[in-house]
Amino acid sequence: MGRPVVMVAAGLLLILLLVAVAHSVAPEVSGKSALVQDKTGQTIKPEKESLLVRKVEGRSYFHLQELKRLGIQIDVDEEMGTVTLNEGALTLHLVREAPVLSRNHRYLPVDATPLWEGENEIWIPVEVVEVGFDRSVKVDSVKGVATVGPPAAEASAFSDHSPDSPEEISVAQMIEYLSFLSSPIEGAQVSSQPSHLPGAPRTYRGGTHEGLDYYTAASGMVIDTDTAVIAAADGIIVRVDHDYVEMSEKQRNRLLEIAARHQGQTPAHIFDKMRGRTVWIQHKNGVLTRYAHLDRVSPNLQLGDEVKRGDRVGYVGNSGTRDGVKGNDRGLHLHFDILIDDRWIWEPYTPAERRQILEGVFN
Ligand SMILES: [Zn+2]
Repeated sequence: MGRPVVMVAAGLLLILLLVAVAHSVAPEVSGKSALVQDKTGQTIKPEKESLLVRKVEGRSYFHLQELKRLGIQIDVDEEMGTVTLNEGALTLHLVREAPVLSRNHRYLPVDATPLWEGENEIWIPVEVVEVGFDRSVKVDSVKGVATVGPPAAEASAFSDHSPDSPEEISVAQMIEYLSFLSSPIEGAQVSSQPSHLPGAPRTYRGGTHEGLDYYTAASGMVIDTDTAVIAAADGIIVRVDHDYVEMSEKQRNRLLEIAARHQGQTPAHIFDKMRGRTVWIQHKNGVLTRYAHLDRVSPNLQLGDEVKRGDRVGYVGNSGTRDGVKGNDRGLHLHFDILIDDRWIWEPYTPAERRQILEGVFN
């Protein structure tokens, strides 16, 4: 090898090395920033913050407005009963009186039920900041304060796939996308009744039925309180209502009255109550399945449990329904929801296409 060739080779190697070094020290751009901006738009480096905490029944809560001191942006929708928290690339979503927490539209196994005592009196469990934003939280119960660490430098973005725009997914593609799911009741068929399918008209809940119902006969078998409800696929339990208390008929009617006043936009927390006793499972690819109106849930099932497809999660019931609040055993059925990244996926399809997708996936 001649000398010029060696020099060129050495030069190339040096360039490669420089590129590699530059790349390794380049700041993370995909993740949330470790820096926050103050009110004047100036960038400040966050330090540990000390926030007041309130203890209620053994749980610690931050006042919602206090979270602003952590650089967290707050948005309350009083009408819908929702709270949105944003920090960098992370957006958390909470619902009044509901124990669910979604981060960038995927659910986390955290009981995030806010204390909702008025428009300006909303309290957020410390776990929401701890788990939702990956921040260290140290509660000092004696002093009534919590020390909160700065945002994590690394992003906890999701690596698995989900469609950018479900609207553009064909029937065949949607069947393929959901093909890892199986029937939530062993041996049951997708209902023969159009009114049991997603998109069927309803007088409340935004005017449409969101899920798929499994009733006796229409599903090709007997469905009652002895019917086991099983996980449609492997996933993480993100909600399991062990402590569900049935509403009174009066309470339910009152909620329906409020919902009617909102004309087609049922507040999230009322909608939540109408589902009765539920189990929610977060699966891969942004898919969430929700099992509603359960009579009872599996006693050992815990928040954060990893379940396998076919694992029993509970039994069919009528909790939260007109019959459930009356205490009778009529109208027993499983209401089964499928969401992708917290979105109702049925909008782009005709009723015939919805049936085609459901039968393609579950039958
Ligand atoms: Zn239903």
